[in-house]
Amino acid sequence: MSDSIYFSDEHDAYRTYVRNFLGEKISPYLSQWECDKKVGSYAWGLLGDAGFLNLNKHKDFFYDVIFLEELGRLGYGGFRVAIAVHTYMANSYIAYYGSDYLKQRYLAPATEGRLISALAITEPQAGSDLNQLQTTATLLEDSYTVNGTKRYIANGSIADFLVVAIKTKNHPRKKNAVGATGVSLFVIDSNAPGIEINPIDMLGWHSAATCEINFDNVQISKQNIIGDLNQGFIYLMKNLQLERLVAGIMVLGEISYSLDQTIGYLKSRIVHGKPLSKLQIIRHRIANLTAEYEAIKQFAYNSAWLYSHGKFAVKECTIVKLKATELSQRIAKEALQMHGAAGYEGGSEIARIYRDTPAAVVAAGTNDALLEIIAQAELG
Ligand SMILES: Cc1cc2nc3c(=O)[nH]c(=O)nc-3n(C[C@H](O)[C@H](O)[C@H](O)COP(=O)(O)OP(=O)(O)OC[C@H]3O[C@@H](n4cnc5c(N)ncnc54)[C@H](O)[C@@H]3O)c2cc1C
Repeated sequence: MSDSIYFSDEHDAYRTYVRNFLGEKISPYLSQWECDKKVGSYAWGLLGDAGFLNLNKHKDFFYDVIFLEELGRLGYGGFRVAIAVHTYMANSYIAYYGSDYLKQRYLAPATEGRLISALAITEPQAGSDLNQLQTTATLLEDSYTVNGTKRYIANGSIADFLVVAIKTKNHPRKKNAVGATGVSLFVIDSNAPGIEINPIDMLGWHSAATCEINFDNVQISKQNIIGDLNQGFIYLMKNLQLERLVAGIMVLGEISYSLDQTIGYLKSRIVHGKPLSKLQIIRHRIANLTAEYEAIKQFAYNSAWLYSHGKFAVKECTIVKLKATELSQRIAKEALQMHGAAGYEGGSEIARIYRDTPAAVVAAGTNDALLEIIAQAELG
């Protein structure tokens, strides 16, 4: 019998299926995709055919929780982010707010893995502060002309289409306005004339294909607006809960992998005639990290439950991302230290995870910005 109130025996069987599937069909290629600096086309079709790219396949969100944890357990930040940005971030805007045309033209093939998507919000001058967005769309008859630059866009070099946040209305900011006003979301084909895509060399998340994207007089049809004009900021704010939950849960999956891997090493590494796992100082460090992991994981499950029951859960989803990514950095550092020089080898898994962890602290809202959201909820 399952030992969790959130997961049934069917969930547990699904976890076994997902773990085996990813282990057999995806794991053998992950190192190669890190070197290639992009996820190979093989993965998209395979995951699409298996239904893993379908945001609404399961009525029960805990099947997604399992998939996300198992993606995280693969230990490759770049791969899991590429998949999550496609399904839970970019495509979700079309799924929740897009017209039938956009759903048929973009979402349906993306769900099958035949088209790949990216979400382009950040700009050189606008990261945490979306008020600074400078990419504009100007209406002329039936089409918009887009100009501007997006930066740090995961999947940028492999995406077939982009979900882009663009300024569509320039007006003086009202005194008490909240968030970025006059922003709309558009779907733009990556091969449209006037688009230039340049890869950026990032410290980690190598297979995430992170890029800068320039728009120079790019023409977009009016029918490529997602939802209503000038409502983009509202859509972004609504979806951020899902983004943060997804980011946090994947990181928790990676933490469980790092802990298992490190515990295995500590049991096998003999120092002064006994395994490292017998030394009290090591045992207590592992005990502390395990306690923190278990506490955040249960909080994450509760937040996922709230989210899946229609609660907005802003504070909870924010805490999941904040605490999971904080812990992942500490665990990566501890794991590296406990592996000795073996952890520091450039090609080691531990070194890769250590190098990858800061990215999740920055993406989907920096942890500093998240603290302000939690403070806002508590203090107004
Ligand atoms: C690997 C990677 C992949 C990414 N993928 C994407 C993607 O696919 N699509 C996309 O649109 N963007 C993506 N991003 C961009 C990411 O969303 C931004 O980096 C993030 O929003 C922060 O913006 P910024 O980098 O401009 O930092 P800034 O906003 O300039 O922040 C700089 C520093 O100031 C701190 N700070 C900011 N606001 C506050 C505050 N209110 N209180 C206290 N401190 C604050 C921050 O914590 C940070 O330390 C990615 C980033 C990375 C690293």
